[in-house]
Amino acid sequence: MISKLYLIQRISILFVFVIGLIFFTGCGGSTEDDVTCTEATWYKDADGDGSGNMLESLVACEQPTGYVSNSNDKNDQDSSTIEEGTDDTGDTGDTTDDNCVTSTADNDMAVLACKFYNDASLTVVVNDNTIKITSTSEPDHKSMYYATSNSLYEAYDNTANDPDFKKNPNTIGAMNYTFTIPRFPTSASNKKATGFGAMGVSLNSVVFYNQVAAPGDDILEELHTFDQYAGHPTNTGSYHYHIEPTWLTELKGSDTFLGFLLDGFPVYGPYENDVEITNDDLDDYHGHTGVTADFPAGIYHYHITTDFPWINGDGYYGTAGTVTQ
Ligand SMILES: [Zn+2]
Ligand SMILES: [Zn+2]
Repeated sequence: MISKLYLIQRISILFVFVIGLIFFTGCGGSTEDDVTCTEATWYKDADGDGSGNMLESLVACEQPTGYVSNSNDKNDQDSSTIEEGTDDTGDTGDTTDDNCVTSTADNDMAVLACKFYNDASLTVVVNDNTIKITSTSEPDHKSMYYATSNSLYEAYDNTANDPDFKKNPNTIGAMNYTFTIPRFPTSASNKKATGFGAMGVSLNSVVFYNQVAAPGDDILEELHTFDQYAGHPTNTGSYHYHIEPTWLTELKGSDTFLGFLLDGFPVYGPYENDVEITNDDLDDYHGHTGVTADFPAGIYHYHITTDFPWINGDGYYGTAGTVTQ
């Protein structure tokens, strides 16, 4: 037999429990002072990419419109991308661009995006975590490798300096490279070798190749086929630099930023603080860490040297992005 008193006790306990439950879950629609709701920190997502800005947050029970729960966005701009390479003037040989991005984030390569020019041959888009560069690898300087019908064709003969000089049979063509490189490059724990083909891209869209010739060829033989600005095309028309791009160092200075390798780390010219950099100054990957004009806080960077291996040594210092053609 269940006594009446027992039933009343059970009902009372249930009643208290239900009241308590209603009180405890009373967050929705309640005031800010309600201490019973579970508050969380929300980060502003101005560019709507799902990543929030660590510097702009608020605390609330429910997710406010335009806010997300993570603070992963290092560049929460109003738009999701910053386009560079289509600058104010858009002219060939342009040496200035007012649209440089400023950034306080560490190792942010976005600050270099504005240095790229030769808008006819490339575009640069800065995304939250990557920089995307499209390139036709057609130089803005004259070359004996342009078709004679091209306005940038210029005959060239270097036999006076180099008795072994010879023009290869190839002609510059419009390539269709797309580089996706890290915007915030970091050292790779497992360093990977560079491969044959484009390992980076320079300011004027021309791609960088490493110190190894195409299979079956000898790089030291290939040197004799370089044009007036130290580049040459492959048999598919891909014009590239293995060594210092003298057009760019004449135009911008011998200590200038010259482009990116695929891992996102910047490549600089052969001089630093008016002193020529040699292989002895650099590590196995042909770079070192130090202050540059673009990175007053210091950055790992490659240098192009006069001597072999010129641009890169044993591989990428950082984790390489991708290039498609
Ligand atoms: Zn080559
Ligand atoms: Zn340096």
